[in-house]
Amino acid sequence: MPVAGAWSRAARDVLPEMEGWRRAFHREPELSNEETRTQARILATLRELGIQSRTFRGSTAVVGYLGADRGGAAVALRADMDGLPVTETTGLPFRSRYPGRMHACGHDVHMASLLGAAKLLKARERELRGPIVLVFQPAEEDGVEGGARPLLERGIFRDPRVDFVVGQHVAPQIPLGSVGWRSGPMMASADEFLLTVRGTGSHAAFPHGGADAIVVASEIVLGLQTLVSRARDPLDPVVISVGSVHGGTRHNILPETVTVHGTVRTLSATTRRKMERLLRHRVQHLAESHGARVEIDYRRGYPVTSNPPGATGRIVEILRKELGPGRVIELERPVMGAEDFSRYLEKVPGTFLFLGVGEPGRPSPSPHSGSFAPKDRVLVTGAATLASAAVGLQAA
Ligand SMILES: [Zn+2]
Ligand SMILES: [Zn+2]
Repeated sequence: MPVAGAWSRAARDVLPEMEGWRRAFHREPELSNEETRTQARILATLRELGIQSRTFRGSTAVVGYLGADRGGAAVALRADMDGLPVTETTGLPFRSRYPGRMHACGHDVHMASLLGAAKLLKARERELRGPIVLVFQPAEEDGVEGGARPLLERGIFRDPRVDFVVGQHVAPQIPLGSVGWRSGPMMASADEFLLTVRGTGSHAAFPHGGADAIVVASEIVLGLQTLVSRARDPLDPVVISVGSVHGGTRHNILPETVTVHGTVRTLSATTRRKMERLLRHRVQHLAESHGARVEIDYRRGYPVTSNPPGATGRIVEILRKELGPGRVIELERPVMGAEDFSRYLEKVPGTFLFLGVGEPGRPSPSPHSGSFAPKDRVLVTGAATLASAAVGLQAA
């Protein structure tokens, strides 16, 4: 048996309740900013637990409060709420009731873990030295605006003034029962670009009358790849991917417009700005060199998720005591996925953790796939991690 602290033992006792919450969320996944049933369920559960909460006009978020009268460090714990437009193929007894919608990113696990932590913390509320803010955040999957920014703008970190923030995400590359951590950049920034290339429509047999938008768009797609291979430091990761190209109706007509839609990922704010500048420049020049025009709609999405070393080190120490040192795993490298938890870390120190759901000998499907099915047992580690980190951060 792995070493386990008091929070893990307490979490094991509330596993049946957490399973119930998780399964109820899982059955009724809702897309970004539509999490109304999910919100109602969270509100009802917090009420049952005797925990005060509040909502915001025009938002599906819920924020709960423990130890509101304490003067010590305030810690925010965050779970995201939204599901995805994915068709579930797990065959689980609690599979999604809604065709084409699924909790395929484990946000059901994140919410049930946070409710579990809330229950554990409520039982020891008198021992809390500072407030604990339970943040149930919509729209993490949205990608551009997200759910964190609107909540920060509504002042959730101001009253009470939050000192630390902790969040977690299920991760198949970490074994079930363990957590993964990383100091510094852990997840990428994610920006989105939509290019509209405008050439001259013509008969395909007479291409010389103007700019062929299809050829220009093709050069742009390839030109973006040489930005990655030739215009940035090979030791500084960047991904530019084009996920959709649209244009034309049939083989012998050259269309007037072609759209190119893609994403830019980086691991530093400086590189992020540089890649945007280079992309605009390259795209503009490629189009001009053909006599075509291009409109560039560049949307800055989530910033780099970067865990400050000080707070991260403290949380790692707390978790080593709680879970046992073998179950607290340092990640070898960052991942190029993105998270709007990064927006909280721009305001206050804290850390984002990977919550292991990997099982030996059983290749785990990745998040966003219809067969992604983390085991309920992960909830024990999820709740113990959040509760112990919150109390531990207040102790110093
Ligand atoms: Zn996701
Ligand atoms: Zn997710």
